[in-house]
Amino acid sequence: MAIVSEFSLSSHYLGCDDEKNAKAIQFIEEMTQNPDSVQERVLAEILGQNGETEYLKRFQLTGAKDRETFKSKVPIVSYEDLQPYIQRIANGDRSPILCAHPISEFLTSSGTSGGERKLMPTIVQDHDRRQLLYSLLMPVMSLYVPNLDKGKALNFLFIKAETKTPSGLVARPVLTSYYKSDHFKNRPYDPYNVYTSPNEAILCPDSFQSMYTQMLCGLIMRHDVLRVGAVFASGLLRAIRFLQLNWDQLAHDIATGTLSPKITDHSLKECMSKILKPDTELANFVRNECVQENWERIITRIWPNTKYLDVIVTGAMAQYIPTLDYYSGGLPLACTMYASSECYFGLNLKPICNPSDVSYTIMPNMGYFEFLPHNDSASARGSHSPEPRLVDLAQVEYGKLYELVITTYSGLCRYRVGDILQVTGFHNKAPQFRFVRRKNVLLSIDSDKTDEAELQRAVESASTLLKEFDTSVAEYTSFADTGSIPGHYVIYWELLMKEASMAPLPEEVLNQCCLAMEESLNSVYRQGRVADRSIGPLEIRVVKSGTFEELMDYAISKGASINQYKVPRCVSFTPLTEILNSRVVSSFYVTFLFPTSTSWHVASGN
Ligand code: AMP
Repeated sequence: MAIVSEFSLSSHYLGCDDEKNAKAIQFIEEMTQNPDSVQERVLAEILGQNGETEYLKRFQLTGAKDRETFKSKVPIVSYEDLQPYIQRIANGDRSPILCAHPISEFLTSSGTSGGERKLMPTIVQDHDRRQLLYSLLMPVMSLYVPNLDKGKALNFLFIKAETKTPSGLVARPVLTSYYKSDHFKNRPYDPYNVYTSPNEAILCPDSFQSMYTQMLCGLIMRHDVLRVGAVFASGLLRAIRFLQLNWDQLAHDIATGTLSPKITDHSLKECMSKILKPDTELANFVRNECVQENWERIITRIWPNTKYLDVIVTGAMAQYIPTLDYYSGGLPLACTMYASSECYFGLNLKPICNPSDVSYTIMPNMGYFEFLPHNDSASARGSHSPEPRLVDLAQVEYGKLYELVITTYSGLCRYRVGDILQVTGFHNKAPQFRFVRRKNVLLSIDSDKTDEAELQRAVESASTLLKEFDTSVAEYTSFADTGSIPGHYVIYWELLMKEASMAPLPEEVLNQCCLAMEESLNSVYRQGRVADRSIGPLEIRVVKSGTFEELMDYAISKGASINQYKVPRCVSFTPLTEILNSRVVSSFYVTFLFPTSTSWHVASGN
């Protein structure tokens, strides 16, 4: 029997919720007691299923299902290696190319290749695997926070637009796929997972109407709310910002029991008519809280029974921790799971820990996992030494850094995810990992991931506009400014003019440079800017000549070697941003608002 079904089948027969929770914990114990043998079975299962695919046949496994043969014959790959196969599937080739099962849809990753979202093939059975991981989260949380079955979760959940491949396969983000699935829509009642948001609000494709009604329901049920969350920290802060901008209308709706005319979706109107009743007392409360200048602790002021925030603040999202602390008065931040479009990996077994202590336990039944030892300093120097040998999940060593490599049921074989993880300990025999960072990501505000090469291209593209003014960009660096919501990219430019006495550049030219940079960035960035508005306008700050030399002087005064010094292409260290900000001569933004329907190509997003 496939490993994924063991827990779901057994839980089917359980009546009592406590017993169900106990079963989930027992399942985690079983999976983590001997991860090596689970991994061996998973690989054998995957190779049994996919051994005869076009991709694997190339490597002549001749029916072998063991790790040694697999590792010796199948190469480690990145997305670009698989792209031709994926493209054929997208174009309608239904033969077993990567996977023996039919590809049911593509999941669009926030990771990009050539500026476009990566397309990850998925199969129907993956729904069960993802559902299994979800079903473990609340049982674990209940070990630390009691009585979560006595109230509701205000979780801001959204679907995004989907596209179709040339052959008609749907391509959409994994969460959109999940929320639209029967697993989610027809989920049985579970007292630990009762949301204030009705399905109609979550499934409304219009992001304003979805957010508005989710917020409205959250306000109406404010005393029932035990946890407030979104998938990522940036999403929860957008919801707070939304409340700042819309509380007056929301309070009006609550006072009158009528829905804003901006809500036009028919099923949403019908569903809200059952929830919304005139409540002057609540409307006055919302007005009194929101009209105040000071929004410190607004989350606990409005939702006083909140026990924790359910948001991922690891990785790039760590930049939002101080703001979340401000709005919540320091409530615990629970990072519950670690997952991707390619595969769901694992969960945090101590979800109420400090964000800096978050570790994820990879569940060995989710896929076959290998680990490429990672050496930060060697990669920084561009070392050409041969790549070290990959190790298995059960062989990773405490304290070491690794890059995650996965083999999945849906046909990815020895695929580099691009995440760098550090082993922080073990649960039973299963290693636990701190998410260190995504490889090569320089700037990120929401789910966008901009790497150094993309930033370089954007600067080059914009600087062509300077040529006719005999000016060039002598040096640049960047900063993800999340001081206001939505955050935005700041690019510091030191300009070199042919003659020092030349007049300053016309403002419109630098505004155009901002636009040229934004147009050059990847589709996830552009979607965040235009469709989701989760990223603010890119800003160019021109700094005084000599500023980058000062940055170097600072680094050298702290022990950097002159020979090895390289301008950092992104800064977050306060002394460096202070130097840069104190030398700003002028700053520029794109000066027009993007219409919602824009000529920019926008792919469907996370
Ligand atoms: P996507 O494919 O767009 O779903 O993005 C998946 C990526 O998001 C992962 O490979 C990680 O880089 C990042 N990610 C997912 N979960 C977490 C987490 N709990 N903490 C930090 N980063 C995460």
